[in-house]
Amino acid sequence: MNQQSDHSIHEQEHLALLASTQVVIKKALQKLGYPEAMYELLKEPLRMLTVRIPVRMDDGSVRVFTGYRAQHNDAVGPTKGGVRFHPNVTEPEVIALSIWMSLKAGIVDLPYGGGKGGIVCDPRTMSFRELEALSRGYVRAISQVVGPAKDIPAPDVFTNSQIMAWMMDEYSRIREFDSPGFITGKPLVLGGSRGRETATAKGVTIMIREAAKKRGIDIEGARVIIQGFGNAGSFLAKFMHDAGAKVIAISDAYGSLHDPEGLDIPHLLDRRDSFGTITNQFKNTISNKEMLELDCDILVPAAVENQITKENADQIKADILVEAANGPTTLEATEILHKRGILLVPDVLASAGGVTVSYFEWVQNNQGYYWSEEEVEKKLEEIMVNAFENVYQTAHSRQVDMRLAAYMVGVRKMAEASRFRGWV
Ligand code: NAD
Repeated sequence: MNQQSDHSIHEQEHLALLASTQVVIKKALQKLGYPEAMYELLKEPLRMLTVRIPVRMDDGSVRVFTGYRAQHNDAVGPTKGGVRFHPNVTEPEVIALSIWMSLKAGIVDLPYGGGKGGIVCDPRTMSFRELEALSRGYVRAISQVVGPAKDIPAPDVFTNSQIMAWMMDEYSRIREFDSPGFITGKPLVLGGSRGRETATAKGVTIMIREAAKKRGIDIEGARVIIQGFGNAGSFLAKFMHDAGAKVIAISDAYGSLHDPEGLDIPHLLDRRDSFGTITNQFKNTISNKEMLELDCDILVPAAVENQITKENADQIKADILVEAANGPTTLEATEILHKRGILLVPDVLASAGGVTVSYFEWVQNNQGYYWSEEEVEKKLEEIMVNAFENVYQTAHSRQVDMRLAAYMVGVRKMAEASRFRGWV
């Protein structure tokens, strides 16, 4: 398949993701009694900037990259969200991700709206110098619309603290003053927060614990399956292992490892590479598809979109499904799982630990005073537990599934803020 048609297939998938997000937003606003005009306001970002970034490559040639920055809604406060470097990045994907960021910020009650950025590139094939030039070029291209009180970027797929450091430095040079609050996910020495790297997995761990309590499942000895062994999946495997759970299967893009007695997680963590690949070092692997259908108590998709669909939702054997990844379950599958009584903790709630600690980082930058790891964890714990309980109680009192409940909780703050501002 050529690159062009490959990209348009991803674009179709991303358009479908965006459309299903809009369906749930519409339902949530209707349930909350907002007029149609509120949906018209919130179904797409307020602003979407497309930029072209010329980069001098190591061989002397110039390549021009396409980048995006979407700002979904800034009624509550500045927009916030990561920058993704990936060959499959498309405009509808960035738009959908910016809406999810708004919902996450609403669910964990942060003073932000959602934003998201992306560059169509493959960082795995680029040198350090080329990546630095691309990161700085992106900031120059979007500098008019971002800033500590406007829109605050962060890491996402294939971007890390080094890339955040280059971006912060470029922004500070343009503005001619040091601006650590321009971006989060920075190295500690540049104003990063303690606990940021593990925040998403910590948040997911809290969600698993709270969901297990509701279902009367003891984490100690519970059988857990984790799809994806990258930043989110590998730290989660560690935390689950440390809590005494039996992680019976993990996977990466190439396959899955399964042991009903529980895998040796510390050994696997030692051997994984920086892109979260591990299964290529083993012979007896099974497919991701087979893994998702294994008997277990808790299933955590922590890799990519569209993994649980109407084709396999009937075969899922877990009691609890916690979405660490963005968009791993389709709407049809959500309905099937709900009818089957499986407790689903949706992505916009489950993976909100990352943006929560990003918020802590921004607060620390603004006040110039830095917190201990214990303080970060204590605050994260309190926010995530409250968010879970709020969504769980909404699902029960309004008789809706957990995804719709999470959207109702998430959309309310930005809708109210938009109403008070007199926008709708
Ligand atoms: P990552 O790039 O570090 O790791 C991704 C993992 O998924 C790797 O192990 C990779 O091999 C595996 N993978 C890729 N394609 C796959 C496929 N088709 N089938 C099975 N496995 C596959 O990414 P990450 O940061 O861990 O993010 C994973 C998911 O969690 C994404 O959906 C991301 O948006 C979401 N998320 C991450 C964070 C965070 O802080 N890292 C925050 C919120 C949401």
